[in-house]
Amino acid sequence: MRLTVLGCAGSFPGPESACSAYLVEAEGFRLLVDFGSGSLSALQRYSDMNSIDAIILTHLHCDHMLDACTYIVVRRYDPSGPLPPVPVYAPLGAAERISSAYSQENESVDDVYTFYGLQPGTFPIGPFTITVDRVNHPIETYGVRIEHGGRVLAYSSDTAPCEPLLRLAAGADLFLCEASYLDGADNPPGLHLTGGEAGEAATKADVGRLLLTHLVPAWVSEASIVDAAVAAFAGPVEVVRPGARYDL
Ligand SMILES: [Zn+2]
Repeated sequence: MRLTVLGCAGSFPGPESACSAYLVEAEGFRLLVDFGSGSLSALQRYSDMNSIDAIILTHLHCDHMLDACTYIVVRRYDPSGPLPPVPVYAPLGAAERISSAYSQENESVDDVYTFYGLQPGTFPIGPFTITVDRVNHPIETYGVRIEHGGRVLAYSSDTAPCEPLLRLAAGADLFLCEASYLDGADNPPGLHLTGGEAGEAATKADVGRLLLTHLVPAWVSEASIVDAAVAAFAGPVEVVRPGARYDL
């Protein structure tokens, strides 16, 4: 399977990156995981925006889902005719959230998306085996484990430290983990991870490689977050960039 980072800026788009969006491909199937602000632009740069086979929205914060609203235009008004509905796996309420953000009229978006409510468990999407579980964030939020061909990609979404995150990431080849906060700062509880906490989770889950994401460039020092993660995890650590591809 191949991971392409479309956007990785935390909380709001940065000068160099859109918000969270990741393209995961295998056997010609194209799964978009999160669709944050600005990422539709990156999707066109690194892929074909029309040929998305399924979408997972890990939670309904703007920086993880807002371009699912913009994307309605792409599919509904394609010059060659409407494109078929795309399955969207998301917390309950996603249809209303997307519809109301798209238009004041609260019109149906069922012509564009077919919604499936997420709940903790394991299920197939195309060639992938997907496991999701609730993580520690103020709204209903799911971390994701994606398996294909004996390889595992785990994605934290947004979370503070929690046991489900460790289960989802257990033994993963790639652990795409948020690191929004600086260690040692007076961070709000129950919201995000520090670099050190991301490293600790990687160690406890015994992952192969730690990919840090969701840093907020305007607010934190990337070097400080990386240093804290490296101090807590002995394996390879890097900060992801838009356009970066990882084959596993
Ligand atoms: Zn969030």
